[in-house]
Amino acid sequence: MNDKSKQNHLINNYRHKKFGNEFLVTTDHGSWIFLSEKEFEKLKKDLIEKDSEFCKKLEETGIIITTKNIKTILRKLEKRNDFLYQGTSLHIVIPTLRCNQKCIYCHASSKSLNEKKGEMDEETAKKVIDFIFQSPSEYIAIEFQGGEPLLNFKIVSYMIHYAKKLNKKYKKNLIFRIVSNFSILDEEKLNFLIKENVGICTSLDGPNYLHNKNRPFANKKESHHLVEKGIQKLNKKYKKNNIKHQRANALITITKYSLQYPKEIIDEYVGLGLKDIHLRFLNNLGDARQIWDEISYSCEEFMDFWKKSIDYILEMNKKGVFFRERGCLIILQKILTETDPNFVDIRSPCGAAIEQLSYTPEGDIFSCDEARMVGEDLFKLGNVKKDTYRKIISSNQTCSLVASSINDCQICDYCVYKPYCGICPVCNFVEQGSIIAKTLETPRCKIYKAQFTYLFEKLKNLENKKIFQDWINKTK
Ligand code: SF4
Ligand code: SF4
Repeated sequence: MNDKSKQNHLINNYRHKKFGNEFLVTTDHGSWIFLSEKEFEKLKKDLIEKDSEFCKKLEETGIIITTKNIKTILRKLEKRNDFLYQGTSLHIVIPTLRCNQKCIYCHASSKSLNEKKGEMDEETAKKVIDFIFQSPSEYIAIEFQGGEPLLNFKIVSYMIHYAKKLNKKYKKNLIFRIVSNFSILDEEKLNFLIKENVGICTSLDGPNYLHNKNRPFANKKESHHLVEKGIQKLNKKYKKNNIKHQRANALITITKYSLQYPKEIIDEYVGLGLKDIHLRFLNNLGDARQIWDEISYSCEEFMDFWKKSIDYILEMNKKGVFFRERGCLIILQKILTETDPNFVDIRSPCGAAIEQLSYTPEGDIFSCDEARMVGEDLFKLGNVKKDTYRKIISSNQTCSLVASSINDCQICDYCVYKPYCGICPVCNFVEQGSIIAKTLETPRCKIYKAQFTYLFEKLKNLENKKIFQDWINKTK
């Protein structure tokens, strides 16, 4: 029996998982350590000798609590959750639902060019901006998505000017972003976006044979060359104008057709001077639902593709080429730093409503952009023409949605990755018909688990750890 009087510690709440001959142990404040089987037995039985090397190791990581480390543990816990006190900062605005492309998986269920409905007018645009500025957050990011947002360029420019005008009073840290397919990005629009300091992002699914298959124009013409040209032109402009804080960015959607081309996709991104890629699992939203069986894949197929891609990126990094995968970067920031990167899709609670809101052309407010794509009343929180921010954010509906994304369920409570993970009520609803789902059956849980495991394995190798640290340092 161990003599408690000789000890000066308490065992912190921890979770564990066996990794070969070792155990990974994590705490609620996000620290972690690999322990040998012998050490883990000692921890389990609380046979930790005072002042031993083992005791010091556990004290440093906060797996045991002492008078010396308790303040640090509390500070880390608070820092890791400080996103809870900030207010909604990310606002996704849909100026139009029209689009000239017909991507096979269009999550936004875009409308054709001839469609009369689905266009934001000036009155609604003004009300959206007025609503956004009611958020107490000192950071406001307004992101224009679509449809193709540049098809309603008049409203995009109006909103940017009006938000800047309002901000003279509110003095928030205000930024703008736009996601465009680049097909109608002419000189006038490009110069405007650069002058107004709007971050510009496009969609690029890989080399031409892949991109054109996934993202054709509505008239079936190819679109890849326009994206390629747009990225090159944009980066040239930034260089010419000596703009160092902006660079072209691209989003990729992975369909079944992508899975055989991990290297080719990365090469395409690197070749165009892009510095990162975000390899995300396909969502069963919008038009993707209609051809889901044709374009979707299993979690195992996705993970095989994902691992090949990350291994290839690491190989490149070792040869001196700088390139990152954003999903990995987000997880690594959670594991290797004290601050949560505040990525809305993987935190607990997730960013729905409290970090992100989405606005339709009619001014309807949804709890996030994916929720907008589902379009169910369950996720519709109100309308900018009749509701205030305070009313929406404190409604029972919002509170239930936020609560449903907290991973304090029994399943997650036994999972070693709980401190870094989160639940998505929208995915749950789409996959299982309820915002509360059987977590272990969700693709998200399976994939995140596999990604966490892969990354913790990689972190055992010092060369990899150094590379990952470099990825994080370059975001500072
Ligand atoms: S509900 Fe899902 S998609 Fe929406 S912010 Fe939360 S995690 Fe992201
Ligand atoms: S969702 Fe899955 S991976 Fe994430 S904490 Fe819960 S059980 Fe673990």
